[in-house]
Amino acid sequence: MGCQSNKELNRFVEEARKYAEKGKVANYIPALGRANPCDLAIAIYYPDGNCYSAGDIEKKFTLQSISKVIALALVLIDRGREYVFERVGMEPTGDPFNSIIKLETMAVAKPLNPMINAGALVVTHMIKGNSIEERFERLASFIRTLSGDPSVSYCEEVAQSEYETAHLNRALCYFLKAHRIIEEDIEPLMELYTKQCAIEMNCLDLARIGLVFAMDGVDPISGTQIIPLDVARICKTFMVTCGMYNASGEFAIKIGIPAKSGVSGGIMGAVPCKFGIGVFGPSLDEIGNSIAGIKLLELLSEKYQLSIF
Ligand code: GLU
Repeated sequence: MGCQSNKELNRFVEEARKYAEKGKVANYIPALGRANPCDLAIAIYYPDGNCYSAGDIEKKFTLQSISKVIALALVLIDRGREYVFERVGMEPTGDPFNSIIKLETMAVAKPLNPMINAGALVVTHMIKGNSIEERFERLASFIRTLSGDPSVSYCEEVAQSEYETAHLNRALCYFLKAHRIIEEDIEPLMELYTKQCAIEMNCLDLARIGLVFAMDGVDPISGTQIIPLDVARICKTFMVTCGMYNASGEFAIKIGIPAKSGVSGGIMGAVPCKFGIGVFGPSLDEIGNSIAGIKLLELLSEKYQLSIF
């Protein structure tokens, strides 16, 4: 079924940790550059409430792009499928996460999917609320419910650091505003988006969120359906088709688990009907995925035959 001991998980972590030196910590958001590249942690959350973990599990990290799949779940609940997919597409791009090229070359400027930055910015634009504070609070509170951790908050230093340097994301927003896909002021939207990306937690919280997706939106520990079944399925499908940036195809073949990664080195995995996974390893490969984190998931997937395919 899956790893059922901290000791065994520890062996996998130490084996995978060796790969961290082959990668690099992201530094295009200056505050992320201070992470320790050798850190590696994993947690696995089972529906019966058991949780196994190993490595640097006390370390907190910001969600970055992992927040995109959670924000998508919230706007699908808020606005429904039709409204959301009129404004953002469903197709993988094969381009880097912050690429602008497809927006200009497509007949309609609608971003191809909600996992690339252009699409994620449109998703954040769709979060309901009367002010930036209220919209952020709705997302943060949704994440607290999903993780079962009422203390989840955001890292001000990372949010500020990204806000000051997010010129490419601003450019994407202005492009989308020119094409009327985004219809609000860009600076407040950037504030909301950078706070969203800076929401932080440890890998245990992340594994618990992964578990809710794995269980089709039900939190098996409280017995509540937090995300409707169809929304959870849409999110998991995006995790498979574009959750690991432009390495999603390779990840699907080698590991085969719906997963979403972020440039801080986090990876959230949802093994359908089995368990949720939270990984943190800030050293990244060239595409922007945690290099040791991917190795760790590969070892686990091989050992426990976790591929959904
Ligand atoms: N906040 C990051 C950005 O928009 C998220 C990128 C990521 O994790 O892929 O550039």
